[in-house]
Amino acid sequence: DLENLVNEAALMAAHAGKDRLEMEDFEEAKDKVLMGVERKSAIVSAQERRLTAYHEAGHALVAALQGNTDPVHKVTIIPRGRALGLTQQLPTEDRLTWTKDYAIKRISIMMGGRAAEELIFNEVTNGAGMDIKMATDLARKMVCEWGMSDKLGPVSYEAGTGETPFLGRDGLRNREHAEQTAEEIDKEIRALITEQYDLARSLLYDNMDKLQVMAEALLKWEVIDAEEILAIVNGEDIEEVKAAREAERAE
Ligand code: ZN
Repeated sequence: DLENLVNEAALMAAHAGKDRLEMEDFEEAKDKVLMGVERKSAIVSAQERRLTAYHEAGHALVAALQGNTDPVHKVTIIPRGRALGLTQQLPTEDRLTWTKDYAIKRISIMMGGRAAEELIFNEVTNGAGMDIKMATDLARKMVCEWGMSDKLGPVSYEAGTGETPFLGRDGLRNREHAEQTAEEIDKEIRALITEQYDLARSLLYDNMDKLQVMAEALLKWEVIDAEEILAIVNGEDIEEVKAAREAERAE
């Protein structure tokens, strides 16, 4: 929560010998509260690092290349907590309502990591396990709770059973109906996720140059921020952008 965050930020500032809080203290505190402690000393093989860079660049690009998504705030391959990397999106507004389009795009962004691994290394890893779980949970909500499947309609289904609260549980007919519906739910969830996986893959395939630039930038600098991500998406020379920003900061 907020109090926790402010305390952490104060601790970071004190640690760095500052007498007042700066934005970067909050940034660091936010990451620590969200993701756990940075583990700069964690032993990550060169191959794992490359894989993580492409995986995270995959998430970030699939987000940045589409409209109606939250802006990418930062991408990092510094290990933190149990994660080897992180792509952070920050909503520009508090979203109380999720449109179907926004929810679908979230799934495509979650699939961007695995899609990049497959495209570049022709290999998949367990690194995308959490993404796949989150995408599946979201797709299930869309189908079973939010009525966002055209096939199944605006009906609420009990998690995974295929039973609507209205159908009841007794009678063979009802059970058959329930099994059939459960099958349809699974099919809809699978369709949602594979469609978005394919979309993520083709977005990355069409923007392979940007994927490579972003992954190489991550391997070189470990962290890139919103401005640098935008520069890469716009096809600007990231080395020049970095240099110009550093010169500006030094002034
Ligand atoms: Zn991921």
